[in-house]
Amino acid sequence: MFEISFIPAFKDNYIWLLTQGKRAYVVDPGDAAPVQARLEADGLTLEGILITHHHADHQGGVAELKARWQAEVYAPGNESITGCTCPLSGGESLDVLGQNVKVMAVPGHTLGHLAYYVPGALFCGDTLFGAGCGRLFEGTPAQMSASLDSIAALPDDTLIYCAHEYTEMNLRFARAVEPENPALLARVAKVAALREAGLPSVPSTLAEEKATNPFLRCQEAAVVEAGLEHVISGRNGNAAQGAMAIHDHSKTEIFAAIRSWRNSF
Ligand code: ZN
Ligand code: FE
Repeated sequence: MFEISFIPAFKDNYIWLLTQGKRAYVVDPGDAAPVQARLEADGLTLEGILITHHHADHQGGVAELKARWQAEVYAPGNESITGCTCPLSGGESLDVLGQNVKVMAVPGHTLGHLAYYVPGALFCGDTLFGAGCGRLFEGTPAQMSASLDSIAALPDDTLIYCAHEYTEMNLRFARAVEPENPALLARVAKVAALREAGLPSVPSTLAEEKATNPFLRCQEAAVVEAGLEHVISGRNGNAAQGAMAIHDHSKTEIFAAIRSWRNSF
């Protein structure tokens, strides 16, 4: 298996660096400069770039890196990605540094959003975060909910390599949703200690996310109740959603309620 480390970028992005000996891939290089510096410092050769979605903080460094390294660029085929050499739509298998990597379509944050899975590790961009999930810029709650379901179906020990250090902020919201969840309170303390020591809170494990991330817990009684309460209390000010809450509530509707609550939190 290749080794995985991170290159910090911008305020809170992680660019994941995959290495096998001196061969390297990067995931979501939003900025070329820190990647270039790391490749030079470690004497690495960049062979490929994996892109999860089109936002600038994920693909902004592609043109420069591709020009320097002639690297393959794997990216969503239905999004505008500079320098894409290998358009993907999900379902493909890639050879990345000798490992079989499965491409998953996870629409929601954007419509073409992809995640890259190798047994033990998932690179999921802005779909699943530590204790949270990405905003629905392009997709519907149903799409994002289905994408999170496909991630939740992976083995529990899968490490979740998301693209941002958002966990502490997300945990504050998760506590508002589930103030009594003991696994969540334990994670709050753990993440606070990591961040205080200047360490990243990611990767987490899928098991940890399933135990603490409200967006993966839309069928838990406490989350359902909190979601409905939020809708009914009218903090969304949306009468149609209020009517939904009274009559029925699917998992997707609870997800939508929690996601919209998070937007205004
Ligand atoms: Zn994004
Ligand atoms: Fe992002």
